Amino acid sequence: EKVFSGFSKTRENLAVVDELLLYWNLSETDRVLDELEEALLVSDFGPRISMKIVDSLRNDILAGKLKSGSEIKEALKKCILDILTSSSKKSELQLGFRKPAVVMVVGVNGGGKTTSLGKLAQRLKNEGVKILMAAGDTFRAAASDQLEVWAERTGSEIVVAQGEKTKAQSVLSQAVKKGKEGGYDIVLCDTSGRLHTNFNLMEELIACKKSIGKVVSGAPNEILLVLDGTTGLNMLPQAREFNEVVGITGLILTKLDGSARGGCVVSVVDELGIPIKFVGVGEKVDDLQPFDAESFVNAIFP
Ligand code: GDP
Repeated sequence: EKVFSGFSKTRENLAVVDELLLYWNLSETDRVLDELEEALLVSDFGPRISMKIVDSLRNDILAGKLKSGSEIKEALKKCILDILTSSSKKSELQLGFRKPAVVMVVGVNGGGKTTSLGKLAQRLKNEGVKILMAAGDTFRAAASDQLEVWAERTGSEIVVAQGEKTKAQSVLSQAVKKGKEGGYDIVLCDTSGRLHTNFNLMEELIACKKSIGKVVSGAPNEILLVLDGTTGLNMLPQAREFNEVVGITGLILTKLDGSARGGCVVSVVDELGIPIKFVGVGEKVDDLQPFDAESFVNAIFP
């Protein structure tokens, strides 16, 4: 798999950590930790996590557990790794035992839902799984065409709305029915992404979830929130609202190949307690990878 190519900005912001720790000695603990906190804030870790990390390092330094700059850096990396792996929810896709398994993606427009769904189809297809796609973004006219391109590219079947007034929930329940009758393993559902402040969207997502559950009990197995990794801490209120309304089971963070904000990745996991399941690292069909917390930490602190 490709290593994280983005995060150059994050790495640049955090490079100061190496300089600070190189000449660290006990008498300079306060100054160094203040500057470290500043570097974390600039890298979008957010005030809460930045403080939590620095406090934990301070305690360990004062307790005599960390005796050198390199030990402090390792402890810092360990703190971040612990946050990223703290969720009790599994980071692998949980597809249950009933067929078809249903995966629904949600998120605001432009975040990368449709693209991620296409890339996910390719990953699953590589595992030999029979896939049906469902074009549940009935609001944006081009979304359905875009998903059809992905269906063709990945050799997947697709269900699209018949007629302009068809509701998202009926497209999805129709697709899940077809999935059940046609012996499909997985139904991948796209949804609409009007702004999260739009009450109608949230109502629609609830209706979609319900209509899917009526066809296959326990479904959708996964509701994945797709977040644009370049949007910074703005993604937090968005993520919170989606989670409150539909109950998110995992995150897909996209555009980590671009100028992604590394700290936000950590904030959003900490804030929601939901694991990152996949990361998008480009626009091509193979550019979706399972999230590996350790390689992420090594990418931002080389
Ligand atoms: P949607 O509105 O949420 O369905 O978003 P789209 O799937 O249409 O994606 C919006 C734009 O982001 C498209 O131009 C995609 O090609 C692009 N995109 C999605 N994921 C990634 C990614 O991981 N990396 C990069 N560089 N671009 C991406």
